[in-house]
Amino acid sequence: FSSEPSLQPDSTEEIGFKGHSMLAPFTAGWQSTDVHPLVIDRSEGAYAYDINGKKYIDALAGLWCTALGGNEPRLVKAATDQLNKLPFYHSFWNRTTKPSLDLANDILNMFTAREMGKVFFTNSGSEANDSQVKLVWYYNNALGRPKKKKFIARSKSYHGSTLIAASLSGLPALHQKFDLPAPFVLHTDCPHHWRFHLPDETEEEFSTRLANNLENLILKEGPETIAAFIAEPVMGAGGVIPPPKTYFEKIQVVLKKYDILLIADEVITAFGRLGTMFGCDMYNIKPDLVSIAKALSSAYMPIGAILVSPEITDVIHSQSNKLGSFAHGFTYSGHPVSCAVAIEALKIYKERNITEHVNKIAPRFQEGIKAFSGSPIIGEGLVRYLVPSARSVGCSSGLLEIALCCHHR
Ligand code: PLP
Repeated sequence: FSSEPSLQPDSTEEIGFKGHSMLAPFTAGWQSTDVHPLVIDRSEGAYAYDINGKKYIDALAGLWCTALGGNEPRLVKAATDQLNKLPFYHSFWNRTTKPSLDLANDILNMFTAREMGKVFFTNSGSEANDSQVKLVWYYNNALGRPKKKKFIARSKSYHGSTLIAASLSGLPALHQKFDLPAPFVLHTDCPHHWRFHLPDETEEEFSTRLANNLENLILKEGPETIAAFIAEPVMGAGGVIPPPKTYFEKIQVVLKKYDILLIADEVITAFGRLGTMFGCDMYNIKPDLVSIAKALSSAYMPIGAILVSPEITDVIHSQSNKLGSFAHGFTYSGHPVSCAVAIEALKIYKERNITEHVNKIAPRFQEGIKAFSGSPIIGEGLVRYLVPSARSVGCSSGLLEIALCCHHR
């Protein structure tokens, strides 16, 4: 998490910069109000412009989220049409809106790695992962398994920054000084073969070792205490780390053996980024729960969601007399404007066939990136991770994400 201030004195002077009053996320120098932020003013396709009109390639696609680029008119229209019709109604107490019902159906139809039962809406990826933990606890309480409450996540993972999501994350900066992680969270190995393999250990052997380590951790803690394992199909903020060969296959065998739920955190990987619609398709992952956000609406409106397996929803339905209502949710769960935008985004992904587009541009970029491999400071150059940029046809930039592992560890 680089937190260096971006110095942009000209533009900030132009807006009368005399210090500012914003506490910025993941930014150093909170105390000093005279740090100049980089002020972005508008965007167009793969480009962002600051308030002086200076043009930047938005290679990170916002924060891995503006998958359709900076000015997709159909998303703007979807938002304004919905704002004109019904700017807000909630989804509590069996009331809801048509966009949220329709979006839930669209998401379930799009997710084909396995059958999923229902969708629960949130406003962000962090809220999605917090909701996962509460839902899993609720489910185990419904099953009369009050001890089965611990979560296993991985070192270097990122699952968000609320109390629970930061606890699940495996990045020290999210824990230090915040008294985290919470005691119900355990961390196991980061699956980065290049960085952590033993001498001569193949990717397959590395995956076997990590699956064994996971099993040993489960046995040490007691399988009856472990509720779920959470993983990003490709690790994002922790360094863009694709899993080694056979990793998810072996991990899933261990989880099944001890009746531990698998949560796929697809907040970054969903909606075409890997060249498949979901990361679960790419790695043959059969999750019990899935978290999505970001490209769900191409980030034009905040929205996240969790997908819940039929096995879990069945248990909760059958126990509903005993459990009472699922007393969890947010004022803006299923916000109609966010849902309307997301419906349109999903339509565009399908119409423009973004997965095919990613598969078409990936090899070319892969070739280009190999040019770095001779550099003495580059240990591994990987490009298996692209933003679809479905605006693409004609939009030259594929909004590329590069994983370059430096030799400095
Ligand atoms: N999960 C993953 C894999 C993420 O990459 C992120 C954000 O980058 C989150 C969860 C948190 O999402 P949000 O920032 O929307 O809360």
